[in-house]
Amino acid sequence: MNDVAIIGSGPAGLATAIGAALRGLSVAVFDKQAGDIDKACGEGLMPAGLSALEHLGALQHLDRHDSAPFDSITYVQESGTRAVGRLPAPGGLGVRRLALSAALRKRAVEVGVVLHERTGIRSHARTEQGVELTADTGTFHAKVLVAADGLHSQCREREGLAGPTASLRRFGLRRHVQLAPWGRSVEVHFAPGVEAYLTPAGTKRVGVAFLWEDGALSGDLGFEALLARFPVIEARLRGVPFDSTPRGAGPLLQHVKRRVAPRFALVGDAAGYVDAITGEGLTQAFEGAAALVAVLPEVIAQQGAVEAFAPYERAAQAAFARYARLAHTLVWTAHRPWLRKGVVGLLARSPWLFERTLRFALG
Ligand SMILES: Cc1cc2nc3c(=O)[nH]c(=O)nc-3n(C[C@H](O)[C@H](O)[C@H](O)COP(=O)(O)OP(=O)(O)OC[C@H]3O[C@@H](n4cnc5c(N)ncnc54)[C@H](O)[C@@H]3O)c2cc1C
Repeated sequence: MNDVAIIGSGPAGLATAIGAALRGLSVAVFDKQAGDIDKACGEGLMPAGLSALEHLGALQHLDRHDSAPFDSITYVQESGTRAVGRLPAPGGLGVRRLALSAALRKRAVEVGVVLHERTGIRSHARTEQGVELTADTGTFHAKVLVAADGLHSQCREREGLAGPTASLRRFGLRRHVQLAPWGRSVEVHFAPGVEAYLTPAGTKRVGVAFLWEDGALSGDLGFEALLARFPVIEARLRGVPFDSTPRGAGPLLQHVKRRVAPRFALVGDAAGYVDAITGEGLTQAFEGAAALVAVLPEVIAQQGAVEAFAPYERAAQAAFARYARLAHTLVWTAHRPWLRKGVVGLLARSPWLFERTLRFALG
């Protein structure tokens, strides 16, 4: 019987595991995948997320060839207008997901977390003393179950915590190219119905991600076809070898009713997600994990009582509300070209305003 069982060894699951182990709890993590785990992601870690990674003690394990610092966000219009906004200290870090996974896994093992790879959890049920997890390889027991099983969380469904199906359906696709980053900025390019995100993600790697809304684009939605909608980027990347195969994700917007139940909590994307447009999913995952870890000892002392989760639910709700407001505003603006062109034009003329907006928006 572990104190805590965690389903999912993505950033949210491993951050929760490391934090819980550092508080002296015994932790087991289960993932259906094995080794360092890849995922469709823009891979830009915002300042608060970077600080959280350092706080967890995982930053020291990150292979520096697989990451690259950035200190600004650049919006690029079809006309070529560029607005550059500086990020608050300590800036951001573009980090290849495989390297992030490796660093978090290393730190987790270092602090005593037990990792069960290739162990997909098929179901869970309450018992008298805790929760029983069923995998193909056997059954496992813990006092509390944390579900960090991602955007389309099965645990969320099983617990009846999923909110209504969202009408906004946005999708993402990413791939990497072998190219030394041209600077210390994440570039966001706009085209009708789609955005492209260029993130430095290594000393010789740039990540290219697209986000679009279902129905906004017609025809081929493969990587090359999306790239062709951005002639400036396409010309820049002509002849540059790829560094990964394409990976997609979506629909992105996922509502939750609540994040907790007796002996049970959701964290990371499983606890609700809006959109990748703010580049904050990882930061939300790390901050959510920290808030959850803070209540776990008391939750265990109170035999998993849902009341003991209350500070976590409140903190997660408040953080999510801020992020959701920002994400919805950006998506809404991005899809109204007349408005977006005006806003980006204003930010281009007033870098101080962009910087202040970023500082405020990122909390
Ligand atoms: C296109 C795109 C671009 C993005 N860009 C950015 C960005 O630039 N910056 C940023 O901060 N965020 C970005 N995000 C968001 C970010 O990728 C997520 O917020 C983050 O990965 C959430 O981590 P997680 O641990 O909650 O989930 P995940 O990383 O999805 O991990 C879930 C884990 O659970 C495991 N799992 C699922 N079901 C089971 C089961 N039944 N049994 C065992 N294991 C299971 C999976 O194998 C997986 O390893 C982007 C997302 C997309 C789609």
